[in-house]
Amino acid sequence: MNSLSLWIIVPCYNECDVLPVTAPLFLKELEHLTETEGLSSQSRILFVDDGSTDGTWDIIRELPQKNEKYSGISLSRNFGHQNALLAGLMEAKDQCDITITIDCDGQDDPEAMGRMVREYKNGCEIVYGVRSERDEDSWFKRSAARGFYRSMNFFGADSVYDHADYRLVSAKVLQQFAGFEEVNIFLRGMFPLVGFKSTSVEYVRGKRLAGTSHYSLNKMFAFAAEGITSLSIKPVFIISWTGMIVSLLGVVGIIWAVIRALTGHTVAGWASIVCILCFLGGLQLLSIGIIGQYVGKTYLETKHRPRYIISDRTAPGEARTDRS
Ligand code: UDP
Ligand code: MG
Repeated sequence: MNSLSLWIIVPCYNECDVLPVTAPLFLKELEHLTETEGLSSQSRILFVDDGSTDGTWDIIRELPQKNEKYSGISLSRNFGHQNALLAGLMEAKDQCDITITIDCDGQDDPEAMGRMVREYKNGCEIVYGVRSERDEDSWFKRSAARGFYRSMNFFGADSVYDHADYRLVSAKVLQQFAGFEEVNIFLRGMFPLVGFKSTSVEYVRGKRLAGTSHYSLNKMFAFAAEGITSLSIKPVFIISWTGMIVSLLGVVGIIWAVIRALTGHTVAGWASIVCILCFLGGLQLLSIGIIGQYVGKTYLETKHRPRYIISDRTAPGEARTDRS
């Protein structure tokens, strides 16, 4: 296992404030790992510019002149965090032995990379970075995050608790992962599906070093819904069971109404009927709506659209367009 090559993959969207601060930190860690873990000279830091509009790509383009370990690719528009990560991973999969994905805002402690690499050397193909404490987050953000993982697991989209996208994945796993061709991707829930030996390492997640978060509460809910409907069909089962129970209650209600009518107690008010109609109507609409979500996703998946398009890259003398 000598001379491992590691690619550190860093998605960046409008990060011109923080990138000049964190890029040297990643480089320092990579050089440190090269010494302590004997990484090969082919190891790289790959920045993925996710269609930034604030000059982030200009910063990334300059970086290889400062150090040859820096490289970058630029997506043709903003494809979103998950797709930017995927673009970087697919770019790396044939050119290195292991990858580590990390946010570019300095929140994830680069020091954990050494422990991840050692776990890989111990035989793990995937190492999840799990935050050990959330002291930096507000009470509200902490509770929202807890609710996020609980509801994800309840609805059948299992993911590693308190793991975001700070993760070591070997090229071997990525070769297999390339076969997951879905358009709606939720990486932290998908990697466990690939299998292979995995473990987690703890790290303290700090504050953003500069710039602002791209994940509002709204986006977090959308992200959770995306995760659930992309990974699990449990909501459809829940709907079916609810429908069955409500129907059974309906049958009991009918029997009860018939008995009341036959025994001469016919004081059926229109209000109760309207209530039942509304209730059932609502439930049916809700069910159709959620099933519609799945039908919509199936429709999108059948299109097999490219999940990202690289428009530019920093590799010397090359500027080609790749699809995946
Ligand atoms: N990011 C991205 N594309 C997007 C949004 C975010 O590549 O459309 C990147 C961003 O530059 C950062 C990482 O994803 O490196 C995590 O984003 P952020 O720090 O805003 O999220 P938070 O840590 O607040 O959850
Ligand atoms: Mg962040």
